[in-house]
Amino acid sequence: MRRKETENHYQLRVCGVLSGPIHGQIGPIGASRPHVFAASRAVRLFDYKAAFQTAVEQVKSEGRYRVFADLKRVRGQFPKAIRRRADGTEQDVIVWCSNDYLGMGQHPAVLAAMQAEIDEVGAGAGGTRNISGTTRSAVDLEAELAAWHRKEAALLFTSGYVANEATLTTLQRILPGLIVFSDSLNHASMIAGIRNGGCERHIFAHNDLEHLEALLRDAPAGAPKLVAFESVYSMDGDIADLAGTIALARKYGAMTYLDEVHAVGLYGPTGAGVAERDGLLDGVDIVECTLGKAIGVMGGYIAADAMIVDAVRSWASGFIFTTSLPPALTAGALASVRWLKAHPELREAHQERAATLKARFAAAGIPVLPSQSHIVPVHVGDPVHCKMISDLLLEEHGVYVQPINYPTVPKGTERLRFTPSPNHTDAMMDDLVRAMDRLWTHCNVARLPLAA
Ligand code: PLP
Repeated sequence: MRRKETENHYQLRVCGVLSGPIHGQIGPIGASRPHVFAASRAVRLFDYKAAFQTAVEQVKSEGRYRVFADLKRVRGQFPKAIRRRADGTEQDVIVWCSNDYLGMGQHPAVLAAMQAEIDEVGAGAGGTRNISGTTRSAVDLEAELAAWHRKEAALLFTSGYVANEATLTTLQRILPGLIVFSDSLNHASMIAGIRNGGCERHIFAHNDLEHLEALLRDAPAGAPKLVAFESVYSMDGDIADLAGTIALARKYGAMTYLDEVHAVGLYGPTGAGVAERDGLLDGVDIVECTLGKAIGVMGGYIAADAMIVDAVRSWASGFIFTTSLPPALTAGALASVRWLKAHPELREAHQERAATLKARFAAAGIPVLPSQSHIVPVHVGDPVHCKMISDLLLEEHGVYVQPINYPTVPKGTERLRFTPSPNHTDAMMDDLVRAMDRLWTHCNVARLPLAA
């Protein structure tokens, strides 16, 4: 009896349920101990259902509740998809907001590589790399990625989020006393990694090099430091001043950590990212990317000096204790990267499509926000209008673009975010601009002064 009580007490503590030392306070543990029941009847039990409901209600009351579009992509026909409505009926739609920026998720070379890998080696990786060894296509992919970014080594993770979170946490274990300088608009996965490590951290105003320098200047000269930033910021489509940031990091003895998630495959002569475009590959100490956007598959990675990669490989829980990517994904990503390296015309077509859509929106008075990249954000400035326009575009015009509301962007800057790909035709753009023009009038949303 005594032993059993202790076990139950322990189980509840592990579940995070027990707040006080007397488990009689928190409710029935077993029918064999009536005293516990007696004590528990005197207190109100925790209402778990209400807590979960409150969490959802809060999101709803803030206008942040998300409803996902039920879409089936059509093989080989990107950006076409079939939407299933709540009543089960179907509708053909054009996807205008995918981060499969170049349609590589539907590319014949990628699909063939994935199918061949399944035929040859099967479905799963079989466990962590420590337990199951490394899938050969993962080794080949890491070599290809390292060479792409002109680094000695690369390391795969199960997603870009995990790559950021695991690496940034681990760097703080490897470098005690590390001070991190993080751009204020960095992605949630970078913030999570920086916070998890518990180090001293300073947030610099977005892409504000004067602010960054002031913070770097104040830090002890001999302390290890890391400047963490992105190249393309995905909500505004602006591009960081890589040269300026790297120069500051060098001046103050800081390492650089660059997230090229929204740039890899898309910028630079071979698609290695903005660092390649700007001739700065050597100025980046650790680059982090995804395999899930322009590369069209799934997964994430870092590339860096072999010693850095070996240390992260040896210490990062988020790498060590999780099943590695299935072989079909690594084979597909490998085929995609090889294709992207050899096909700069895809990147040119991508930029042309983005520039054309920006110009067409501007000509129609649709308030397209200034963006230096392939991302085409359109200002709405109100969460209700933003959601309404998105819903009407989908239901009445077969255009899928999701509303971007707070907290993804600041209140008052709600927007629609378009990501035209080389596969979006002129005819698709005609339909889109016509639909947006009508809805802008219908919903009475402010326009830009029309070009003379
Ligand atoms: N970094 C940035 C800047 C992102 O926008 C994202 C995802 O949207 C990630 C990292 C995470 O990448 P993944 O989708 O591969 O987890």
